Amino acid sequence: MALIVQKYGGTSVANPERIKSLAARVARYKALGHQIVVVVSAMSGETNRLISLAKEIMPDPDPRELDVMVSTGEQVTIGMTALALMELGIKAKSYTGSQVKILTDDSHTKARILSIDEHHIKQDLDDGYVVVVAGFQGVDANGNITTLGRGGSDTTGVALAAALKADECQIYTDVDGVYTTDPRVVPEARRLDKITFEEMLELASQGSKVLQIRSVEFAGKYKVKLRVLSSFEEEGDGTLITFEEENTMEQPVISGIAFNRDEAKITVLGVPDKPGIAYQILGPIAEANVDVDMIIQNTGADGTTDFTFTVHKNEMNKALSILRDKVQGHIGAREINGDDKIAKVSIVGVGMRSHVGIASQMFRTLAEEGINIQMISTSEIKIAVVVDEKYLELAVRVLHKAFELEAA
Ligand code: ADP
Ligand code: ASP
Ligand code: MG
Repeated sequence: MALIVQKYGGTSVANPERIKSLAARVARYKALGHQIVVVVSAMSGETNRLISLAKEIMPDPDPRELDVMVSTGEQVTIGMTALALMELGIKAKSYTGSQVKILTDDSHTKARILSIDEHHIKQDLDDGYVVVVAGFQGVDANGNITTLGRGGSDTTGVALAAALKADECQIYTDVDGVYTTDPRVVPEARRLDKITFEEMLELASQGSKVLQIRSVEFAGKYKVKLRVLSSFEEEGDGTLITFEEENTMEQPVISGIAFNRDEAKITVLGVPDKPGIAYQILGPIAEANVDVDMIIQNTGADGTTDFTFTVHKNEMNKALSILRDKVQGHIGAREINGDDKIAKVSIVGVGMRSHVGIASQMFRTLAEEGINIQMISTSEIKIAVVVDEKYLELAVRVLHKAFELEAA
C-alpha cells in the first residue's frame, strides 16, 4: 500500500465528464489498496474568468479581495470531485486550503506555504476516505484566504506530498510528461522519460509552465518523488523527476528549452557610476514586493552606467512609477524606460557543465536568423537570452533543431 498524492490541473477537471474520469482513475488506485489524496485546480479558464470579473470592477484589484474571489474556482472542483467519487461508492471528503490549514505568509496572490496541518487528512485516510484538497489556496495567520500564484496547485500537491511523506506525487495534466520544450510551440518536441531535479527547476524557473517552480523547490527540499503524467491517457509512465544525475558522458548537453512571455524590461539610463546605485534602484523595488529576474549593469566611457532589469509584465508599471517618483531624481538618472514586448528563451542542461562552446552555438544559431539578443544571463546549467517577443517562437524552434532535441 502506498500513499499517493494526485494533482489534476484545469483541463483535467474542465467539465463533469473529466471529473468523472478522474474519479475512475482514483477508484482504480484505491482498489489496489493505495491511500489517495487528490488536489484539484479550478476548471480551465475559470481563474482567468474570475480575475477578469474583478478587473471589471477595479482595474488593479485589491489583492486580498482578489484572493477571496479566485480561490472559489477550486472550491467548486473539490466539491464536484468528492461527489464524483461518492457516485462510484468511494468515501470522499473535500477540504479548502483553510480547512486543512495550509498556512501561508500574507503575500496575497503569491503567498508562500509555511506549514501544513496534516493530522485531519491522515485520520481521514486511515478511516478509508479519499481526501480532496483545493489547490492554489491557503490561509494566513489572521485567517485571510491567500493564493499561491498562477499554477499554484502544483505546489499544493507537492507540499501536501511532503507533509504527508507520500510515496509519490503525480501531476496529471494535458500532456503526457515533460518535453524538450512546449510541444504546443514545437510539435517535434520529445517527451523525456526522466529529467533531473536541477534541470526541472531551471526549466520551471525559466518559464516552462508544466510545473510551477515552487512545486519543484518543494520536491527538491523534501525529496518528493514527482511524476508528470497525462490525465487523458490510462497508460504511460510520464516523466519522472530524478535526483541522481546520469553518467555525464551519456547525458545530452541540452535537455530542454524554456521560454517566458511574462517579463518586461526596465532600463535606467545615465546613472552616475558610484557605489550603492544597484541598491538605490532595486531596494525600493524589493520593498514594494516586486520580484526582479535578470539584472545587467553596463558602465560607459563617460562614467555613467545603464542599469537594466526584468520584472513580471503585470508589475512593470508599478516598478516604473516607483523609480520615476522615488528614485530618478535622487540618483540623477537621465531616463527610465519600460519595454514589455520582450521574451526570454533559455536552454537548460546539466551536460553543459562538461561542454564548452554551448553559448557560442546558441548565439550563432540566433544570429543566423537575424535575431538580436538584448540581454544574456547564465548559470552553470542554463543560458537565457532576452529577445524581441516577435522572434520568440522562431528562436525556440531553431534552437530546438540546432541542439538536436527532436524526436528520433
Ligand atoms: P495544468 O492546468 O494541468 O496545470 P498547465 O497548462 O499549467 O496544465 O501545464 C501544462 C502545459 O504546459 C502543457 O499543455 C504545455 O503546453 C505546457 N508546457 C510548457 N513547457 C512544457 C514542457 N517542457 N513539457 C511539457 N509541457 C510543457
Ligand atoms: N487555478 C489556478 C491557476 O489557474 C491554479 C492552478 O491551476 O494551478 O493558476
Ligand atoms: Mg499548471
